[in-house]
Amino acid sequence: MVRQAGPVDDQRRVAVWRDGGAVAVPADEPVVTAFDQGLGRGDGVFESVAVLRRGTPHLDAHLARMATSAALLELVDPGPTAWHALVDAVLADWPDDVEGVCRLFLTRGLGDGLPPTALALLAPVPEETVRQRTEGISVVSLGLGVPADFRQQAPWLLGGAKTLSYAVNMAAQRHAHHLGVDDVVFTSLEGQLLEGPTSTVVWAGGGALRTPPLETGILPGTTVARLFARAAAAGWRTSVSWGTVADLHAADAVWLVSGVRGAAPVHTLDGVRRGDAGLTGPIRELLAR
Ligand code: PLP
Repeated sequence: MVRQAGPVDDQRRVAVWRDGGAVAVPADEPVVTAFDQGLGRGDGVFESVAVLRRGTPHLDAHLARMATSAALLELVDPGPTAWHALVDAVLADWPDDVEGVCRLFLTRGLGDGLPPTALALLAPVPEETVRQRTEGISVVSLGLGVPADFRQQAPWLLGGAKTLSYAVNMAAQRHAHHLGVDDVVFTSLEGQLLEGPTSTVVWAGGGALRTPPLETGILPGTTVARLFARAAAAGWRTSVSWGTVADLHAADAVWLVSGVRGAAPVHTLDGVRRGDAGLTGPIRELLAR
């Protein structure tokens, strides 16, 4: 069978860490063995980094979280110099005007004390992501089945680590799609708000921008951290708050925020239409600075 490299393939980049250096390879070249523990067990961590005008303005925040995730999995992180070299390798001939998503993967490799696998991928931001950012999203709340305070006392559940084991997160999004809905807000066993499968929940309510606490085992979002720091500097009240789906229904506005999609306004929650009180524009301006 002859495979034709289409326009999308032309816009994909891969670089892999080999023998102490970053090596750019053709996008369709195999870069991990079939025995890689990342493939067989999802035993690894990753980051998705926004590429804007051929730059990665928020890379360092992602590398800091990558280091924390790696430590939680007892993985050897090759460190910021290696990651910067991998990112530079995939960005080398990337066009200025194509917004991209750069994925960094770190897996346990072959295990048994052998070096981890580290690689970087770069591809254009999918059109659907841009559509959701601009047009907003419908969301369904789904239970994750854990008590809100459980993952904090259960390090084996890897709360707070951005692991490659995203099968549950992807299944939740597929479940939402089967319901005709774009995305998901996970809730704890008691109904406390957690996060989205690939995003942080933010709502405006009671005169403050709010987001759930990290004690729930959610991922520390780099985007919400940036948003809240800039919002506070601009005079907004920000608050880490416990909340429920009822709080989201009562809120002035709700967003799912993440590095590549940005702040996606939630226009429908569990089948109920809602507005954003005109707050999405200012939120986007804060994030765009
Ligand atoms: N929570 C989860 C589970 C995620 O996968 C992501 C995004 O990758 C986020 C939150 C938001 O993180 P960030 O803002 O750093 O993209």
